[in-house]
Amino acid sequence: MTPVNGSSVQGLASARRGRAWVEVSAAALRRNLARIRAEVGSGVPVVPMVKADAYGLGMEQAVQALLPEEPWGWGVATVEEGGELRALDPERPIVVFAPAPPGAIADGLRHRLTFAVSDVSFLERLAGEAERLGADAPFHLEIDTGMGRAGFDWRRVGEWGPKVASLVDGRVRWEGCFTHFHSADEVDDRSVTVQAERFRDAVGSLSPPEGELRLHLCNSAASLRRPDLAAGGVRPGIFLYGGRAGKGLPAPESVVSVRARLALIRDVPPGTTVGYGATYSAEAWERWATVGIGYGDGLRRALSNRGHALVNGRRVPIVGRISMDMTVVDISGVPDVAPGTRITFLGSDGDEEITLEEMADHVGTISYEILTGFTPRLPRIWMEEGGDGGA
Ligand SMILES: *Cc1c(COP(=O)(O)O)cnc(C)c1O
Repeated sequence: MTPVNGSSVQGLASARRGRAWVEVSAAALRRNLARIRAEVGSGVPVVPMVKADAYGLGMEQAVQALLPEEPWGWGVATVEEGGELRALDPERPIVVFAPAPPGAIADGLRHRLTFAVSDVSFLERLAGEAERLGADAPFHLEIDTGMGRAGFDWRRVGEWGPKVASLVDGRVRWEGCFTHFHSADEVDDRSVTVQAERFRDAVGSLSPPEGELRLHLCNSAASLRRPDLAAGGVRPGIFLYGGRAGKGLPAPESVVSVRARLALIRDVPPGTTVGYGATYSAEAWERWATVGIGYGDGLRRALSNRGHALVNGRRVPIVGRISMDMTVVDISGVPDVAPGTRITFLGSDGDEEITLEEMADHVGTISYEILTGFTPRLPRIWMEEGGDGGA
């Protein structure tokens, strides 16, 4: 395995010797993007969503890893994220997809970011700031077709359409329109069809002053389920990072592993209790290992007495409550264990794998929240291949 971008060999070695870490495969990330492209067609512009520090994995490394795939641009949620990204890619469009507070507009323009616009007053502010700074202000207009969190109401295009058009000038450039699906992850795609029709109706009655608008609708799930809606561009996120986009859709390659090392190993007699609340007691003689990872690292406490980990290719249960810094697993019967042995909480080890979806199901959440929930205490170790890279 070769470490990439910035994680020096030495830094890598010391981090891997550490108590716990997140391993990320740059090549798998790239292949997942290539997979999306294969599904939607090679001519379709791709806007990888790298918001929230690339779903918790590290925006800088994600951008470096994906640059060879030549995305059309990047998607972020905040002006701060966009500013950081601008330093990494001076060229490509960076679209700020979440509604920005008006106070962030000037910074956004200085970093040559493209704003998503959801209301007329924001666009007026944008025009004013663009004028004041002598800056270009490209924007993409969001149309709310049922998501209800941002965007112009698709039913009221007659009200806002002309106002938007009137604010467009040499600086304020209306480049695109987009919408966001609420249920593209579901097998039944009728709501996607309905939202796409609403979008098309709204766009059809717009008269942008200059030229063609770039139209983009699809997140990961919609890109895979409805490639017929992908032509103007796609905005994949979760699939790139190894999360399943929805039922009945192709699985991505695994990108992320969470690993740690056994710190203490003890043989305990029947009746020995473990963790806060003593919620588990040994049923017989058991061998327990204490691992230096806990909910303070983002290993979710809801995995207590439910989740598993992998040691030497074997599945072992988490016993007792996960604490902030420590977790105990029952490694009875696992051969060749010693303090320092590698343990995997997410990802594969030998023939066994714990997927993001398995972990999310145990916790009662979604892969997105699991990924973005690993705390800064876990170093992100980017490797070219990663995966099950040995002990
Ligand atoms: C986050 C986001 C996406 C990516 O969604 P995934 O389900 O992760 O593929 C696409 N578009 C917008 C507007 C988003 O906010």
